[in-house]
Amino acid sequence: MIRAIFYFAILAGLVWGAVVLTDHPGTVSLEWAGYRIDTTFAFLIGVVALVAGLAAVIYRFWLFIRRSPGQIKWAWQAKRRQRGYQALTRGMVAVAAGDAGEAQRQAKRADGLLEEPPLTMLVSAQAAQMKGDEKAAGAFFKAMMERPETEFLGLRGLLNQAIKRGDNHEALTLARRAYRLQPKSTWVADHMFDLQTRTGKWLDARVTCDDLKRSKLIDGDEARRRKAVLLYQMSLVAQEDGDADAALDHLIEANKLAPAFIPAVADLADYWAGVGKHSKAARMIEKTWGPAPHPSLVEPYWNACQSADALERVRASEKLTKTNPDHLESHIALARAYLDALLWGEARKHLEDAIDLTTPTQIPARVCRMMAELEESENEDLAGAREWLMRASEAPHDPVWVCDHCGNATSLWSVVCGKCESFDTFAWGPPPAIAGSMGKSLSGPELLEGENAFSHDLSRLPPGGIEAG
Ligand SMILES: [Zn+2]
Repeated sequence: MIRAIFYFAILAGLVWGAVVLTDHPGTVSLEWAGYRIDTTFAFLIGVVALVAGLAAVIYRFWLFIRRSPGQIKWAWQAKRRQRGYQALTRGMVAVAAGDAGEAQRQAKRADGLLEEPPLTMLVSAQAAQMKGDEKAAGAFFKAMMERPETEFLGLRGLLNQAIKRGDNHEALTLARRAYRLQPKSTWVADHMFDLQTRTGKWLDARVTCDDLKRSKLIDGDEARRRKAVLLYQMSLVAQEDGDADAALDHLIEANKLAPAFIPAVADLADYWAGVGKHSKAARMIEKTWGPAPHPSLVEPYWNACQSADALERVRASEKLTKTNPDHLESHIALARAYLDALLWGEARKHLEDAIDLTTPTQIPARVCRMMAELEESENEDLAGAREWLMRASEAPHDPVWVCDHCGNATSLWSVVCGKCESFDTFAWGPPPAIAGSMGKSLSGPELLEGENAFSHDLSRLPPGGIEAG
């Protein structure tokens, strides 16, 4: 608006000037070197304006000639950069689409057009990896690692490569460096923790666990569970190394952090019973059986109660299962004890209670086998026993320790899965082939009755040991 008023004012001024000059043309005479020019004032003004206009045009042209080399170069570079970024974008799209050849072509083009290797190196490395050329990819990742702005990306690439080829020690070295650069990255922290547990660096893993909690990457419950499992493992290692005091220390601490962690409860109860602290051992197991009944606790409890014969085992089992009387495991534990004591009526009652807790197709194989035993022993009903054994062969497999990451099923709990090397992934349950369906083939391992599921033998610990607080 202001600009329009300004132009209008100029135009009005010019029109006014032209009118004034037309109305008053005036005369001008010039004499120079014997020449005389007589003309109007308006004509002289017109000539002066024309000369000034020409001078301005010539000046602009001269400026253009002087600046053009730089401007041409700048325009050429801008065009080149634009083409470079286009190639880089196409390369990234090709990586996302899985087209290795196109990704490599575009990465090379972008590399030639752009003077920014960090940007093109990542696409080049990914393209090489897609073509299966890990060596070339590794060279790009190493080059990226040398530049501060791409150091983390390079480390990440090399770390993934090391994990892929199973070189856990090299991977851990790279993970430590990456962790120093990005301590708040969940990806790095998780990898570092996993690699520390895979390489048996239990103490380092414990420190990382504290760091993870401090950085709020894991919550308090998760940190406590991880620490308990690590301490249990450290206890096993200390025991192997002959350091019984440290083994007991770690075991007690593990139990304090995770009172429902069955391997630690069973081992620690065995230890207390072994050094004469029977009631302490019994109390510990009773406390665990309430919220988390587990068949691996029955035998340590019998030891804790010093049950010498079948009747004493019945009494012990009755006391133990009082903390959770309606649980399937309680009925199974009682049925086992009554069967061993030849108390058929009680055994049948608890087996029937166990059957009532499940659907007809999900009756546990253990229960079917005990029913067969009962029919044969109490009634000498061999046909009935055979029928129950048939049902046992089709029943869901007895629970074992199952890795919830890869489905590996084993009768022995371990801190790291022997198959996929994941940390603390074993949960007690039916093996995956059987879970949620009728068991057709019993291919998984079976926990033998009376078999100790854990590997602790604390009999070599010092008598008296260390008191739990
Ligand atoms: Zn696994």
